[in-house]
Amino acid sequence: MSVGAIGEIVWVVGIIAWYVIRYPFERRGKRVPVVSSRRTLSERVALAAGFAGLAILPGLYVATGFPQAADYPARLWAVIVGAILFCLAMWVFRRTHKQLGRNWSITLEIRQKHELICAGPYALVRHPMYTSFMLMGLAQAFLLANWVAGLAGLAGFVVLFFLRVDKEERMMLDVFGPEYRAYMDKTKRIIPYLY
Ligand code: SAH
Repeated sequence: MSVGAIGEIVWVVGIIAWYVIRYPFERRGKRVPVVSSRRTLSERVALAAGFAGLAILPGLYVATGFPQAADYPARLWAVIVGAILFCLAMWVFRRTHKQLGRNWSITLEIRQKHELICAGPYALVRHPMYTSFMLMGLAQAFLLANWVAGLAGLAGFVVLFFLRVDKEERMMLDVFGPEYRAYMDKTKRIIPYLY
């Protein structure tokens, strides 16, 4: 089997793990009432960009080899780095879901009896789930030896993150006021101690 094919298989296994972690929260989310939602156009674009870059484009590449012209030679060390990064991403992804519990939403929403979570991964950064998306995008770049499919994940992450993060923090400030303000003073956004 070629090194390139191993990288693609690792990516597919990673995406399946992603869904296995997420699925129970999607189901549970349907049962917890939403009291306010900010599902605006920009929020829809953000979600679509993330989905396209982290799932659709790389999925199309793995399934069909498109766009072949953007291929470059795969390297074993890159596949190993990518596999480690994907594991790290899924570990963080799982921890953030466990910590948010019933407060999780795929979009900008406040649920009934919404609680502000500041513990676990949320003690280090305000958006650890987006940290996990960034790590996933990085992993994809190392795993898929194709400039377009490989870098699409990071591009999708950047669009998703920057279209959303200010609005999310505004929403949290509107709902939790000084409590979220104090939490902002204590934490960075996605990279502990840095950003
Ligand atoms: N930005 C966070 C959460 C992503 S899920 C992260 O990256 O980990 C998005 C939803 O989580 C938002 O709609 C908001 O309702 C909720 N949320 C975000 N930060 C939260 C926090 N600290 N405590 C509770 N809920 C939070």
